[in-house]
Amino acid sequence: MVVGLALVTTAHSRPVLPGDGGDLTSSVIMSPTATIVLRHGKERSLRRRHPWVFAGAIDRVVGSAEPGATVQVSAADGSFLAWAAYNPASQIAARVWSFDAAATVDADFIAARVHQAAAARADVAACSDAARLVFAESDGLPGVIIDRYASVVVLELTTAGADRWRPALVEACRSLEGVDSIYERSDVDIRGREGLPQRAGLLWGAEPPATVVIGEHGATYGLDVRVGHKTGFYLDQREARRAVAALAPGRRVLNMFGYTGAFSVVATLAGARGVTTVDSSAPALALAADNLRRNGLEATGLVTADAFGELRRLRDVAARFDLIIVDPPKLVQRSHHLDKGARAYKDLNWLAFGLLNPGGILVTFSCSGVLGAELHQKIVADAALDAGREA
Ligand code: SAH
Repeated sequence: MVVGLALVTTAHSRPVLPGDGGDLTSSVIMSPTATIVLRHGKERSLRRRHPWVFAGAIDRVVGSAEPGATVQVSAADGSFLAWAAYNPASQIAARVWSFDAAATVDADFIAARVHQAAAARADVAACSDAARLVFAESDGLPGVIIDRYASVVVLELTTAGADRWRPALVEACRSLEGVDSIYERSDVDIRGREGLPQRAGLLWGAEPPATVVIGEHGATYGLDVRVGHKTGFYLDQREARRAVAALAPGRRVLNMFGYTGAFSVVATLAGARGVTTVDSSAPALALAADNLRRNGLEATGLVTADAFGELRRLRDVAARFDLIIVDPPKLVQRSHHLDKGARAYKDLNWLAFGLLNPGGILVTFSCSGVLGAELHQKIVADAALDAGREA
């Protein structure tokens, strides 16, 4: 998704946490089983706090370590760089837990990181009972995603190091207030690149209900944590939903790739003059219908169709809209698909621009990391130019 970047100081200026080494009396000191020694010059990125060690940067491994075990990372001259989770099966052979030589990576350390991350998202509670609590590397917990949906917590663990600390992560989540269920959704392809099998299921507490209901900015959404995309819902689009709500009043809205219909719900609640929701998946549109009804709205304007075909059909019947949302799935999976994916983004945005009334608004997204925000913007600018629209 296209998102702004707000930096919160962590790592360097972070206060010493319990388990970071400040309270050694209360923790068991486990000496690492191995030390990874980097090749000359390869310490630079770690000194700049980049939390990954690529396999090619390693000169030698002294001792032996299981996948997921905590190892010491040293520069070629022997100086300490970090404590990290080791995974010889991954191209990213080690992921840093801590740059502090005095830190002890144990259950207390993991719990402290989880609690610090959760506290940093406490402000979300003012508008929603659903939030991403832990953002993996950004919260000093590589491979760990933790989302909260009301009383249900969902873990997505993508690395051997994260797997190793699953029990500690569950303990840490249990101690968050009001949690009834902890469910795992580590059924993601990326685990294959780590040599890990996919897994999903209940980790603790009650089986989550078939539909977990959450609230956000006055709207209500149902989601299924067992099969829903990501861990159940596009939490990362919260601010975008707000933006769409602000833009929607009086506008005719087309919501492409609607999924749970969240953008359609906010647009309709905000007073849009009709909303059309398109998705190729009938089950997705059934969710969208449920969500519209859950908010006291009519489940209308739901179209099961391929987006590329439907945009062309709308063009051919000279349909016009005032606000179009284009939120496709990841169209570039790997860098060698960049050309093909870029053409797909171009096509979608070009078609969407063509359907806009004068003064209309296109709200467009990409969740393809390899595409990058800058290239995405260029593609959209090109699409406007080719569609003959000033944007
Ligand atoms: N905007 C949604 C998230 C979209 S996820 C939200 O905020 O919740 C992407 C959606 O695109 C999925 O629901 C998927 O079913 C749908 N999809 C994938 N390929 C499609 C295609 N070719 N045409 C239409 N929909 C498609």
